[in-house]
Amino acid sequence: MGHFQVFTDAELASIRRGGKILAACLQMLRGEVHEGITTGELDRIAEKFILDEGGIPAFKGYHTFPATLCTSVNEECVHGIPGKRVLADGDIVALDCGVIMDGLYTDACISVAVGAVSPDAAKLLKVTEEALERAVSVVHAGAKVGDISGTIQEYVQSHGCSCVDALTGHGLGTTLHQFPDIPNVGRKGTGPVLPVGALIAVEPIVALGKGRIHQEDDGWTIRTSDRSLAAHFEHTLLVTEGGCEVIA
Ligand code: MG
Ligand code: MG
Repeated sequence: MGHFQVFTDAELASIRRGGKILAACLQMLRGEVHEGITTGELDRIAEKFILDEGGIPAFKGYHTFPATLCTSVNEECVHGIPGKRVLADGDIVALDCGVIMDGLYTDACISVAVGAVSPDAAKLLKVTEEALERAVSVVHAGAKVGDISGTIQEYVQSHGCSCVDALTGHGLGTTLHQFPDIPNVGRKGTGPVLPVGALIAVEPIVALGKGRIHQEDDGWTIRTSDRSLAAHFEHTLLVTEGGCEVIA
């Protein structure tokens, strides 16, 4: 078993500064998403924003990933590479982003409707975002990782959707992905106990169809095997005595 990274007050201040830039970046991007914009343009806007604010884009160069954002459209679940793809009315797009501040990582994602989307797509966005909020509400020191997983799984399945169970949340700190894995399915009351000061990324990835995934030939993009729509929301959280602080 691994261990939770412990942070000094100075490190926590850096994490909060990075998280603030990341949250502001995603908020700004939400307003930029419209029919006709390319995912590459969104990526350039995000990169400029983060650099201007004094952060470092965390994903660019991470295991050779070439961009600031992961832009995953419709049936794409995660790790879509920004480029020439033009967003169309009715698409949904996940904007996943990370910031490094003083060597410390934050990681967050929103999924956004492009123009008018189908009732199914709107439902998927709502269910995924609410699954994240419910998961956030059960995080506190002494809770177990399985409490997060079980909360997400129960909520998602009760709404007729599937968790993409091959993809998980994770601890983070001086690396982007570290102990513990935070699965999106699991049993409450199981898994590692969350200590005060733990930094975790909680990220339900939800499909309208079955939650199986397929890796595309670009080596990065992961889509649903059945090509059903997928959505992704993510927060970086700092565990506190009575709950958690949303860092980004
Ligand atoms: Mg992420
Ligand atoms: Mg993550």
